[in-house]
Amino acid sequence: MPQKSLTELPSVQDFLETMGGPEIINMIKICERKRKAFTDEEVSKKMNLKVTEIRALLNKLHFRGIAIYQKSRNQKTGWYNYTWEISKKRLATIVIEQQQDVLDKLGEKQALEGDYNFFDCNNCNERLPFEVAAEYNFICPSCGGVMDSNNNPQKQKEISKKIVKIESEMVFLNQINE
Ligand SMILES: [Zn+2]
Repeated sequence: MPQKSLTELPSVQDFLETMGGPEIINMIKICERKRKAFTDEEVSKKMNLKVTEIRALLNKLHFRGIAIYQKSRNQKTGWYNYTWEISKKRLATIVIEQQQDVLDKLGEKQALEGDYNFFDCNNCNERLPFEVAAEYNFICPSCGGVMDSNNNPQKQKEISKKIVKIESEMVFLNQINE
């Protein structure tokens, strides 16, 4: 799977977006292009955001260990200068952990779909294993609709598709994590 950057992966985008909205993704894209450490002022100019807004985003990343700063004292002013770096490795590690959880849950779901023959109501969202549906004579206990097993293969296919997609992203994430 040819991938140019970490921020192009949907799993990474979802994670970052939940953390700080679309702006945090843009900020990391800008930081990825810089090889050296950067200051919040530099990024603030590039993004047309206030320095305080950039600092808030960096602090969120720092809290998770994704943004790392170095402090140095300016000899003239006596003030501290902060330079920042983004740890792609740490970002990849967190997303891998998160995606592994999603994979585990999908795996459980897949096993469940395979073990039981599930019956779905054709009228509401009720979903019952064969044994229970049979007890109700395949009439939905919630709404009286007809229960049948037609949706089962489709559900399995959807789960498999999700698993394949996540696994292919994991390959790329693991390369960064090495
Ligand atoms: Zn129903």
